[in-house]
Amino acid sequence: MTPTDLREFDDPMFRLAQAQFLKAAGIMGLDENICERLLWPQRTMVVTLPFRQDDYHEVETVFGYRVQHVLTMGPTKGGIRYHESVNLGEVSALAMWMTWKCALMQLPFGGAKGGVCIDPTSLSRAELQRVTRRYTMEIISMIGPDKDIPAPDMGTNEQVMAWLMDTYSQQVGYAVPEVVTGKPVVLGGSLGRTEATGRGLVYLIQESAKHLGIDLSQSTAIVQGFGNVGSNTARFLEELGVRIVGVSDVSTGLWNENGLSISSLLDWVRNHKILKGCPSGDEVSNAELLERPCDILAPCAMQNQITGENAQRLQCRMVAEGANGPTTLEADAILNERGIFVLPDVLGNAGGVTVSYFEWVQDTQNYMWTLDEINSRLHGIMTNAFRRTIIRAERDKLDTRTAAMIEGIERVAQAKLSRGLFP
Ligand code: GLU
Repeated sequence: MTPTDLREFDDPMFRLAQAQFLKAAGIMGLDENICERLLWPQRTMVVTLPFRQDDYHEVETVFGYRVQHVLTMGPTKGGIRYHESVNLGEVSALAMWMTWKCALMQLPFGGAKGGVCIDPTSLSRAELQRVTRRYTMEIISMIGPDKDIPAPDMGTNEQVMAWLMDTYSQQVGYAVPEVVTGKPVVLGGSLGRTEATGRGLVYLIQESAKHLGIDLSQSTAIVQGFGNVGSNTARFLEELGVRIVGVSDVSTGLWNENGLSISSLLDWVRNHKILKGCPSGDEVSNAELLERPCDILAPCAMQNQITGENAQRLQCRMVAEGANGPTTLEADAILNERGIFVLPDVLGNAGGVTVSYFEWVQDTQNYMWTLDEINSRLHGIMTNAFRRTIIRAERDKLDTRTAAMIEGIERVAQAKLSRGLFP
């Protein structure tokens, strides 16, 4: 099968994931048989669930997915996304990226992802809980602490993970905290997990700044997205003395050349839910914000934001990807050509799954770590992956995304060759 024959996986995001993989595979001379295996997910489950709205009159049929890309490395790992764009191709792309991310970080997991095609912002708390519990029941045969461990992603949070953990635990008859990560600390969640993706990204922005000779205390940043990843990234950058000149969420972008105060934006969002109307800066569109001048541009929202269409107009020195898949292959070529440094998603946003791994280890050992222990281990794992990526990129004259991916792919390929073929 060739990547042009996508069939049920057909989706722009899956095309991107496959194209990135094939580019890396070609450069590294990956064994053709292994290449063919890794081009597609190993296991997928498509479910439909009845979703009863609060008013009891309507029952909707909602689609849900769980995809396990590679089962070679250990249990599979990856978040669950609630968004109205979710489909099998999107979830499969995200699962493939989880494989490279886990392998690059040297975590003992293969990649997975799940999703429900629903807009979570339109749901009441009770509706969100019902969707979550029914989705968990539908995929329950696929997940488990030694099989596949979900976590939050776009549109889900620690409360959703708590319901998932409860539903699973009710079925087996005892508490199983280690079936999911990113859950509340009282249920066995890890300290530092909520902010881990933003913290990890900022650790690597610091490393990149050193590498490029940028003085962060004199620099500016634009952060696209003000959810968990975006808001924490902005907060940690601000703590380092970076001037945050722009932020955005789905409702609007905000621009202030003198710098935005992240704590006051967080207060505003706590009261108003969205950034729109916030008087701290001038309103600009999301698209326009990306093209404003800054040192660090951190896309921390959706896929497909930096494209062949706008990459030429970016005015930043570094793109730090908090989101999964924010940059297309055409844009990568342009950024590379223009000498803009890219911290690719599989490296930049890997802090989340790394602390998820710590959470799973703590739960399976029944032994909890301190926040200092977690952050220093996170720092060690991420900077090590960063160093390996830079060394490879410089040695083999590769862009950073390809170098990071090859680091991951090579590990998976070695594991596959060592295990051999069954039957
Ligand atoms: N959803 C996050 C990601 O895309 C975290 C996954 C996890 O913690 O397992 O990396």
